[in-house]
Amino acid sequence: MTAPLRWPLHPPPSDGEALSSWLTRIAAAHHIGLEELLANNLGNYTLDIFDSTDIDIDPPVPLLIALQERTGFHRGELHRMTVAGHMPWLLDTLEPSDDPDAFTTYTRQHQVLIACPDRPSPPTHRWRAWLPRAPLYRACRACATEPHPVPGLTLLHYLPITLTCRRHGCYLDVIHRSVDTRILWVDDEAEPRPAPPAVQLMDQRTHDALTDGIVQLPRRPVHAGIWFRLLRTIIDELSTPIIHSRRHSHTLSRIWASIDQPPRGGQLPWRPFESLAWPAQQLHLEAAAATIAMLEDGSIESAGVHGALFRTEPHCPINDGRTPTPETRSASTTTQPIDRWKATADNLNEVIALARSDPAEAEKLYQFLSLRPNREHETRQLLTDLRITDYPSSHNPDRDRSCTVE
Ligand SMILES: [Zn+2]
Repeated sequence: MTAPLRWPLHPPPSDGEALSSWLTRIAAAHHIGLEELLANNLGNYTLDIFDSTDIDIDPPVPLLIALQERTGFHRGELHRMTVAGHMPWLLDTLEPSDDPDAFTTYTRQHQVLIACPDRPSPPTHRWRAWLPRAPLYRACRACATEPHPVPGLTLLHYLPITLTCRRHGCYLDVIHRSVDTRILWVDDEAEPRPAPPAVQLMDQRTHDALTDGIVQLPRRPVHAGIWFRLLRTIIDELSTPIIHSRRHSHTLSRIWASIDQPPRGGQLPWRPFESLAWPAQQLHLEAAAATIAMLEDGSIESAGVHGALFRTEPHCPINDGRTPTPETRSASTTTQPIDRWKATADNLNEVIALARSDPAEAEKLYQFLSLRPNREHETRQLLTDLRITDYPSSHNPDRDRSCTVE
């Protein structure tokens, strides 16, 4: 038995490159067609595996083993060039599901714009987070015209989760496919279009989630699994029918108006984001970027508890130890009549200020206020109104079906 033949040329994958793109470049380097590479060197695969995009979603393990033998790259590295390599952070499962709970578990375990998570569970058919129904092929025009372009198309080029090229900050444009390493544009004449800073920032965070596993938000860093679900939550909230968005509909309308679009991007009837055509998905991603920017600059309020992640920590002055505390002053003026209501209000304001900046203090306040039975939701709402959102009991444990970590 002879050892498998190592290919003479195996250019290294570029940053974030998709497996299909890398194989295309390997075939071009050897001056052979993809069919020959697949059929004669890796097993008995055909171009069907490219056309179905399975190769970038969940390629067969024997294919990865054969690639490891031919190139020397560990199959763990190769797995990371596919969607399956980012489970369970990017999505819970690759199995399409008709179960509405699969949809709500992913998209509604967090709340950003809408406080009430108890919206009706929508009907879904073979739903999977972020994976489009039809293959999406995109490329960056600025990358393509560089004197020394970075080779390859990334996994993010194929997923409707970003809008831009991270290197150039311009919109990705739809392509037919790439043949060998040549890109076939749908519109040959178009020029690169720069994206607004808000869109670039959102996409940078998504890129960080996929490559580093951590995303920096104004309040604190969050795990990649949280970022992907927060982003999908915002998109779901933006597409909420007005009958269910109620008191939040004005905020939703303002967000859509900021990108010159009607509420819900004009979508009628409701369909999950993954089932929309790419132009409609683009609008939802634009609106999500606008949402995040408006939360961060304070031009809209977040009713959901996780909206606080997009705001910086409130300033909480620390006593320098020389300024007399209110308790000291009251002790020195015992002859003065005591205004108990004012003292109560002062204490309450101090507790609220502490709770806004310290999750442990916020939890104490929550436990105190929710002593009455069956008032947990009401208490959470009260604390949200007071802009106290970051504490252990801020989520509803009954709905906490997340498989993510915080
Ligand atoms: Zn580019």
